[in-house]
Amino acid sequence: MSMTRKRNAKIVATLGPASSSRELIADLFHAGVDVFRLNFSHGTHDDHRRRLEHIRSIERDSGRSIGVLLDLQGPKLRIGTFAAGPEMLETGAAFRLDLDTTTPGDGRRVALPHPEIFAALKPGAALLLDDGRVRLHVEACGEDFAQTTVRVGGQLSERKGVNVPDVVLPLSALTDKDLADLEFGFELGVDWVALSFVQRPDDLRQLRQLVGDRAAIVAKIEKPAAIDALEAIVAESDAVMVARGDLGVEMPAEQVPAIQKRIVRSCRNAGRPVIVATQMLESMITSPVPTRAEASDVATAIYDGADAVMLSAESASGQHPLDAVRMMNNIIAQTEADPYFHDAIEASRAAPRAEIADAIGLAMRHVTGLLDVCACVAYTSSGSSAMRMARERPLTHIVGMTPRRAVARRLALVWGVHPVLCHDVADFVEVSEVACNTVRREGFGRAGQIVVISAGVPFGTPGNTNLLRIAQIQ
Ligand code: PGA
Ligand code: MN
Repeated sequence: MSMTRKRNAKIVATLGPASSSRELIADLFHAGVDVFRLNFSHGTHDDHRRRLEHIRSIERDSGRSIGVLLDLQGPKLRIGTFAAGPEMLETGAAFRLDLDTTTPGDGRRVALPHPEIFAALKPGAALLLDDGRVRLHVEACGEDFAQTTVRVGGQLSERKGVNVPDVVLPLSALTDKDLADLEFGFELGVDWVALSFVQRPDDLRQLRQLVGDRAAIVAKIEKPAAIDALEAIVAESDAVMVARGDLGVEMPAEQVPAIQKRIVRSCRNAGRPVIVATQMLESMITSPVPTRAEASDVATAIYDGADAVMLSAESASGQHPLDAVRMMNNIIAQTEADPYFHDAIEASRAAPRAEIADAIGLAMRHVTGLLDVCACVAYTSSGSSAMRMARERPLTHIVGMTPRRAVARRLALVWGVHPVLCHDVADFVEVSEVACNTVRREGFGRAGQIVVISAGVPFGTPGNTNLLRIAQIQ
């Protein structure tokens, strides 16, 4: 079976209890998944190890590079327990939060075991509980308490999540659990590491210090503070996720669409892959078909030129993981076949900057418009030449040819890039030969057709794309 996919946008699917067998993971892959997400907010290390072993065995059988993204839980804040089960908080009532974890909560108070929150809180700030279902207004606070008024009441059960959108919390984006999960991830050999609740560019620098070149980094944008520092955060990351789940709790839902588009535009401009995530086919958790609005949501991300769309509970714990992947695959294929998709991509293409690599990209695109070019090939040891090429959003296939397995796996996330592993090549003459052979073998072109190749010389220095070659397949 030819495992060559022709679409540009990629699919990220989260694995979980509903998708842990080798058989189902293989089916998900064959149905279109390019990158699997291991969500470390749930499951044990053993669960994740087994899933990863299945993925790598499927990868060996298929001969195609598969990306694995480890998603760190980050500083997810939670309230403590209640003495007598869920409590009803009435709108207008007083409610107190404090650090006393030894006394279970009741209808008037509950523990919030995070001193950092109290240190940063100010009267007037909002506290959102249980994905924003219950909303508290801070009236007074000190270093170990907050006295609040319930603005939006509702039932509250123990250990529910807390969001504090109005303050930058003096919290590291990496908890002790994250550090342990990260070490475990390195042992497994994951390709991408996603950082949750990023607040500042420094959060990413801190993670980068720990990760080195063992994995590439995804910044999850789900806090207002991260949106305020968007450009700097994009610059510090290798890829970005529009994490609409928590973003939609911390920001009013009606602002999320414009923010999503702003993040996608900013990433495309910077040449960073961008993933649109959460609730994309939400109703497919229980239904075999999506709502029309969900189908439209996936298509919108594709028209905007996002690199990848993501499934969360749909594939991790839903009743129809395989149908969800098939549906996503079909929506992408249909959208990319629409002539308007090409217009939309043309119209939203990121402008070239006065840099050598952008000049190469610009030239590449002009060449593909002029000649019968069947594929653009980036010979890349760090992946950066392939990402530069993807930034151009050329309407021909992109082959990311690399001698490094880890890079091929990372490139599985990038718009339009078909990662292909090759042996180390000595010089540019050999690169051309290998590129033409690869394009023919992978079914992207035949003898007589033109291949455009870019690379950075000398080989092996990241970010030095400086060479463009036009070759004809023999
Ligand atoms: P999560 O991140 O699923 O890990 O919460 C994505 C989101 O918040 O949208
Ligand atoms: Mn989140």
